[in-house]
Amino acid sequence: EPAAGFQNEPLTDFSIEANRTAMQEALDFVRSEFGQTYPLVIDGKSSESRSTLSSRNPSDISDVIGHVAAASADQAADAVDAAHRAFPQWAAMETSNRCEYLELIAAEMRERRFELAAWICFEVGKPWAEADGDVAEAIDFCMYYAHEMRRLDEPQQCDFKGEENSYSYRPRGVAVVIAPWNFPLAILTGMTTAAIVTGNTVVMKPAEQSSVVGAKLMEIIRNAGVPDGVVNFLPGIGEDVGPELIASPDVDMVCFTGSQTVGLEINRVASDTDERQTSVRHVIAEMGGKNAIIVDADADLDEAVVGVMHSAFGYAGQKCSACSRVIVLEGAYDQFIERLIEATKSLKIGAAEDPSTKVGPVIDDDAKQRILAAIKTVDAEVGEEVALSIDTKTLDKQGTFVGPHIITGVDPDSNLAQDEIFGPVLSVMKVRNLDEAFTVANNTRYALTGGVYSRSPSTLKRARNEFEVGNLYLNREITGAIVQRQPFGGFRMSGIGTKAGGPDYLLQFMVPINVTENT
Ligand code: GLU
Repeated sequence: EPAAGFQNEPLTDFSIEANRTAMQEALDFVRSEFGQTYPLVIDGKSSESRSTLSSRNPSDISDVIGHVAAASADQAADAVDAAHRAFPQWAAMETSNRCEYLELIAAEMRERRFELAAWICFEVGKPWAEADGDVAEAIDFCMYYAHEMRRLDEPQQCDFKGEENSYSYRPRGVAVVIAPWNFPLAILTGMTTAAIVTGNTVVMKPAEQSSVVGAKLMEIIRNAGVPDGVVNFLPGIGEDVGPELIASPDVDMVCFTGSQTVGLEINRVASDTDERQTSVRHVIAEMGGKNAIIVDADADLDEAVVGVMHSAFGYAGQKCSACSRVIVLEGAYDQFIERLIEATKSLKIGAAEDPSTKVGPVIDDDAKQRILAAIKTVDAEVGEEVALSIDTKTLDKQGTFVGPHIITGVDPDSNLAQDEIFGPVLSVMKVRNLDEAFTVANNTRYALTGGVYSRSPSTLKRARNEFEVGNLYLNREITGAIVQRQPFGGFRMSGIGTKAGGPDYLLQFMVPINVTENT
């Protein structure tokens, strides 16, 4: 039963001409806005910085999307200080008022829906439909967390003879939000609005590669009238500001989504306490996956081919939910692989702003080199083979492209099968039976998403019991979780904390208090 009063924001139907026109106009408008400079915002005041970041269009790196201030360690300390000072008043505000701010943020996002999608499309190379989905998800986070907070605001009474017990929640304090570039609006908005609606104040650090979209969110937060100091915008280089932010005695929690390496480092630094601290810093970290889809011998191959292809190559595989391993039962193997390769060859690769593009660029040259290096580890001696490698030659002059790659015969213990690549690289493994399929699927330190294509109820039942992932998808693709319907997040080395867009998420931003009165 969905929570009454919350409804997911519908996706834009680009088969309707008016929507295509609106998106094209938004792209033209956004292009005319390229090259501006975006400051830090600390305590409601814009401030310059000594250095700036230049954000480029990965589809065409000669486009400079904008210049964004890069905060220094001192400015990081100022931002924490501003958040710390703003906390008491914000925490004391009526919950319903805080919820209304989220609803105002959502309302402006709805009005600027195409424009925001266009910024996303240009800044991180996300094709139209996925850029639109990013904005819809950001709106969903605002509306859902506002809705959830209204629910959690009711103290739970547990009265007894002679006593009244009341159980309620309080904010933690200052939250540092460190976001990834791959959902530049949705994830930044989700973590930030969850923190503020629960009464915390925030230092908001977007990923370097998506700082302009971060600046747009900050603009919307200010337009909504969120008081000064409640959200402080601190773009910059992670290495410059991260340690100052995370080790600050005035920071009470860190909310991170990104790579496992950075997540574990944040957790390590945050757990170190000193005598100036008044709380043990609480860490929430969503850290990636090495997600598998099992294709059973009796799977509907039409569905499986399309589902695996979208899960592996949608947004060039740059989702932590993406499928990077496909485990195919012997009986379906030859047919499945042949069809998967044919279908993948038909994917149109190109600039993200081109409406016909299905696979855009990867985020930057570092990512491209890292992905190519992973592909180079393919070892013919153990039977690994690059079965499909789509060339991007003509596009390479302009952007940072890597075409879809399918690698067969992958050794389940190799780096290729174990390390998150975060690009359009799919490792294929053939197995003899379901026992082996589940063993290989679970043979990873991660536990984020997973999928099974099968017509057998018994296989699907086994999957429910044996497949160790946070989000299991049966007979459908494994990306594109929707707020409230598929609360998203994993366990093991995939993350610390609970699911975004789910009923437990906000609890992590608060501490529970019980009050007993003797009557
Ligand atoms: N929630 C997204 C999905 O289900 C993935 C988010 C991420 O990549 O961090 O596809």
